Amino acid sequence: LFCPHCGAFVEDSAVHCPQCGGALRPAAAPAAEIVSDPSSVKDYLTVNIVLLVLSVLCCGSVPSIVTGIIGVVFSSQARDLLRAGKWSEAAQKSRTARAMAIATGILLGVMALLLILLVALYGTVIFALLANTSY
Ligand SMILES: [Zn+2]
Repeated sequence: LFCPHCGAFVEDSAVHCPQCGGALRPAAAPAAEIVSDPSSVKDYLTVNIVLLVLSVLCCGSVPSIVTGIIGVVFSSQARDLLRAGKWSEAAQKSRTARAMAIATGILLGVMALLLILLVALYGTVIFALLANTSY
């Protein structure tokens, strides 16, 4: 290739121009991480869909529905990138998808606890009412 700074012809493998010492490759490359084991990159699509369905059906909690939807979106993006062989981009989407799955799980857990508390409280109130009316 030719040096973009001075126009000298340099080897393709060269990082710096031997004529002027200028960098031959734009600094964009280092941002992409190296994924050593592509099979370790997971899309978390199934877990995100399950958590989203649980959010809608079980508790109907808006925060976990939101994180569930974001999780499913990132999961499907990760799946597409994995199919395209873009491992490093897939790994980034995969991390967000996993974080969303964890967030949805925690939110669901909190909602489930609140529901149990609510049922327990109402149960006590109903029990007290029944106990009162029986007298
Ligand atoms: Zn040069």
